Amino acid sequence: MEGNRLSTHSSDLLRKIKELTLSILADLSEGRSPLIFIQRFRIHCTNLDSNCCCSSNKPNGHEILTFQKESHVHRIDVLLRVLLIVQQLLQENKHGSKRDIYYMHPSVFSDQSVVDRAINDICILLQCSRHNLNVVSAGNGLVMGWLRFFEAGRKFDCINSLNTAHTIPVLVEDVKDLVSVAQYILVVEKESVFQRLANDQFCKKNRCVVITGRGYPDVPTRRFLLLLVDKLCLPVYCLVDCDPYGFDILATYRFGSMQMAYDAKFLRVPQIQWLGAFPSDSENYDLPQHCLLPLTKEDKRKTEAMLLRCYLWQQVPNWRSELELMLQRGVKFEIEALSVHSLSFLSDVYIPSKIQQGTYICHI
Ligand SMILES: [Zn+2]
Repeated sequence: MEGNRLSTHSSDLLRKIKELTLSILADLSEGRSPLIFIQRFRIHCTNLDSNCCCSSNKPNGHEILTFQKESHVHRIDVLLRVLLIVQQLLQENKHGSKRDIYYMHPSVFSDQSVVDRAINDICILLQCSRHNLNVVSAGNGLVMGWLRFFEAGRKFDCINSLNTAHTIPVLVEDVKDLVSVAQYILVVEKESVFQRLANDQFCKKNRCVVITGRGYPDVPTRRFLLLLVDKLCLPVYCLVDCDPYGFDILATYRFGSMQMAYDAKFLRVPQIQWLGAFPSDSENYDLPQHCLLPLTKEDKRKTEAMLLRCYLWQQVPNWRSELELMLQRGVKFEIEALSVHSLSFLSDVYIPSKIQQGTYICHI
């Protein structure tokens, strides 16, 4: 995966940081305002004519930061401060979180999102991924099932305790000696569903690996999933709530997120297949009326906005049809609603039968 990068070694990044700061200093010493070109990327637009190039990984424009614009002065200040911290991390071969960086100058940064934007800008300027800067997130994801691997010398023996949750490693590039006898990977949106499967001993009965990002997946969870898909070449299914947030989480695994659009090709999993829950599942599995909740105004607004995304039209029109159906019916339900029949319905019937019968929505 890393091979496509131009140069992501610490020494290359340190050289680029030096070149960037020297050019800024040269401009300033000659009385010119430095111009910092930052390319802009996106993963979707609302052009429905299929002529857009959102899926091409190419930039769709750029921004120029300059001291001549008052609003840019603070952004450049933040950028240079974060760049200095990144330089230190790389020089000392240490890792830090986005939160650690925020607390280096909280009064200047004022908000975490300001630091996050600067980190994204630096990745674009240096043409690297966030972890190349030694900036890592806390790691929210969980994994269990037929899997064994080492991370920085530490053994993760999931096979030995099949129904125990293990934290997904933060330093995914340090994962080595991956061994698995699983037949598929199941990604579940929520920890409550993950725990339900653990309690039902799902992995003992089914040869699989189960992952959850506990809501919107963070970077380590998505990178770890991508590593498993790449190395193990297994089918991967995703189970989310039948609501606009569940669908958006599914889309994040499949296409990446807008905030990190510059890095989408290293974070998305195009092979992911939508196992459920579909709007049509409420009929197919006889969900009683009281399990169906009306879509709120916010749900409808979010769904309508998602229906305009170009990638749904171009790449997964059958996903889009189900989303349209959700809006037409005006109702949503949680995965747990399927437990109305029996507590282990999800583990014993719903998931195995969908996989065996192929009643999931493919990526093609
Ligand atoms: Zn587009």
